[in-house]
Amino acid sequence: MRVHFPVAAGGVRRRPDAVVRAVDGVSFTVAAGETLGLVGESGCGKSTTGLGLLRLVEPTGGRVSVRGTEVTALRRRELRAMRRQLTMIFQDPYASLDPRMTIGSVVAEPLAVHGLHRGSRARRHRVGELLELVGLDPDHAHRHPHEFSGGQRQRVGIARALACEPELIVADEPIAALDVSIQAQIINLLEDLRDELGLSYLFIAHDLAAVGHLSDRIAVMYLGRIVEVADRATLFARPAHPYTRALLSAVPLPDPVAERARERIILRGSVPSPADPPSGCNFRTRCPAAFDRCAVDDPVLTLRGDGHLAACHLPDDAAG
Ligand code: SF4
Repeated sequence: MRVHFPVAAGGVRRRPDAVVRAVDGVSFTVAAGETLGLVGESGCGKSTTGLGLLRLVEPTGGRVSVRGTEVTALRRRELRAMRRQLTMIFQDPYASLDPRMTIGSVVAEPLAVHGLHRGSRARRHRVGELLELVGLDPDHAHRHPHEFSGGQRQRVGIARALACEPELIVADEPIAALDVSIQAQIINLLEDLRDELGLSYLFIAHDLAAVGHLSDRIAVMYLGRIVEVADRATLFARPAHPYTRALLSAVPLPDPVAERARERIILRGSVPSPADPPSGCNFRTRCPAAFDRCAVDDPVLTLRGDGHLAACHLPDDAAG
């Protein structure tokens, strides 16, 4: 999938056909019941990838396919029906909820859109079920979002996402706005729901610590591309891409002695503009291991082991 945006008109000296390559050819699969973590710094295109998958922004190239149905080819009406199966949980639960609506109506809204559980009694019953499923009291359905804590509001967001019994949920930084003590509760809830309901998640986060617990596999994204994909254990034990190694060096270790001894890899500079990515490897301006070839030769994802792909010219044992 690619999502390119035209560069906004203005005083910038650019070619008229210049584009922002927000998502620049990412490819991945998510199996039934699987969680794929998608991780990378802010601005790397991970949220746009999630939005493009649901066609909440239109991909400019490539395709998205769910159980053989090509989502990218669906007409508006068919797409609306498909959105029963594909839903989203957002970062800031308060921003994504209308403050004037009761939480009962927030959760019931997708049921109304898709004509499910028709009749006020049936709908109230379903809303009660959903609130209970996410650990909220069904008797609080008449309350408003501001009467709930951040963690509880995220639970409301999850109940809403579950309303139409989806198969795949795109969870975009679902714990980033929450206190650390609450984050674990939401992760555990998402894990329990996945196991109980057979859900698949695309779990988007800016750090590996957040995706580590829940993800079966992890894809690392940099400047609109996936630079490494592996199962969780392999990615944490044998990262092949220098960017993954830098992200991993920021994950706190449970052992305080090991934590004090380990070296943090600080990347120089900031992420280049996706409107003007570097030549060759797009990570080369920040890569501690860059060498001559990296400026002219764009590395492609190559197999490093069973299901382990990385886009780097270095052999595995030299990527540090
Ligand atoms: Fe670094 Fe070169 Fe590998 Fe890119 S290809 S990640 S610049 S070593």
